[in-house]
Amino acid sequence: MNDATFVSHLECSLSGERFPADTVQNLSQVGKPLLVRYDLEALGQHLTKDTLSKRPEELWRYREFLPVRQAANRLSLGEPRTPLLTLDHWSQSQVTVKDESRLPTGSFKARGLCLAVSMAKELGIQRVAMPTNGNAGAALAAYGSLAGMESYVFCPEDTPDVNVREIALQGAHVWKVNGYIHHCGQIVKGGLETMGWFDFSTLKEPYRIEGKKTMGLELAEQLGWTVPDVIFYPTGGGTGLIGMWKAFAELEAIGWIDSKRPRMIAVQADGCAPIVRAFEDGAEFAEEWQDATTVASGIRVPMAIGDFLILRAVRESGGFAIAVSDDSILTAQHEIAAQEGLLLGPEGAATAAAYQKALKQGLVSPDESAVLFNCGTALKYPMPAVTATIDRHSPLDFSQLDQGSAGTPV
Ligand SMILES: *Cc1c(COP(=O)(O)O)cnc(C)c1O
Repeated sequence: MNDATFVSHLECSLSGERFPADTVQNLSQVGKPLLVRYDLEALGQHLTKDTLSKRPEELWRYREFLPVRQAANRLSLGEPRTPLLTLDHWSQSQVTVKDESRLPTGSFKARGLCLAVSMAKELGIQRVAMPTNGNAGAALAAYGSLAGMESYVFCPEDTPDVNVREIALQGAHVWKVNGYIHHCGQIVKGGLETMGWFDFSTLKEPYRIEGKKTMGLELAEQLGWTVPDVIFYPTGGGTGLIGMWKAFAELEAIGWIDSKRPRMIAVQADGCAPIVRAFEDGAEFAEEWQDATTVASGIRVPMAIGDFLILRAVRESGGFAIAVSDDSILTAQHEIAAQEGLLLGPEGAATAAAYQKALKQGLVSPDESAVLFNCGTALKYPMPAVTATIDRHSPLDFSQLDQGSAGTPV
């Protein structure tokens, strides 16, 4: 079955140069990401909010906003609408968490790879390769196997072991590399000719961003076709931030939301903050960050090809970029887990730490509605050890049991 899609063409995000839709593309002539453009007028006439509201609460409900033409190519591992959760114990102010850890493979990378692999399938691509800090590779492995594709995945050697094992179990060829993610990217580039694979690096193909865009569509719909005042986004390659910004523009173009935009806040870690440095320097592009290190491995990206798109969205929105320490990330993670029962991944916890810091510095006010993005499950990361033990052969002093591991933040 052929459903309508409304894709008109692909467009270079820097030069505006056009490329035909439905063809295999990586970067533009000037080496920048391509964005998918739609006939939004036709889309707006075809689809109503009411039609949409009757569909199952899953990613493909937004199919008219997405590029896949053939229904048979729309891969699914069951991508649910993710909840917006309040943090009433942890905070007195108007803050919620969009919990993306509920997606297949435990991270929002599923949104991007669901789309990218579906499009690769539609375009007849059979072998793909990607550098990853873990979560993207896991999602590629999963959707790649579902699509019957061959996937090659390259991870920095200190990627959490559970990620690497998950990728292998889900059927990809996975290798650990003694370097950072962009060194892994060089291997992908180096193998293009010999291996004949398609380069699935962040923003080096046009469709992952369309999958991430569904976060913006979904958030606006969840809020009754409005947007929050501020969004705190843990920023690595920035696909999600750029994708949401694109979603809001498309929704305004079809008249479903008004011209209000959230202030977009790019959150990074002190140990890897190229976007924050560029933001503060007033630069259009970000320079590579040396010796990147942070517990939040999903945002350990020293160099992002979409740097100027992140910076543009942050600035146009009246937002800012902010870095937080690993200590504050781990403290926020433990506080929220212990007080709310919500275990955030370190990247999500970074947005919580950044929110607190921004409140303290007066950069946001407590009565602005803020949405924090928790992008992956904490269960894929090493957690602090528990050392409390009981010897069942000795008398037990029950009054001492509250001395166990829980309680105070690490
Ligand atoms: C990839 C990733 C990020 C960063 O997302 P981008 O959109 O690439 O900036 C944040 N958190 C987690 C858990 C991730 O896997």
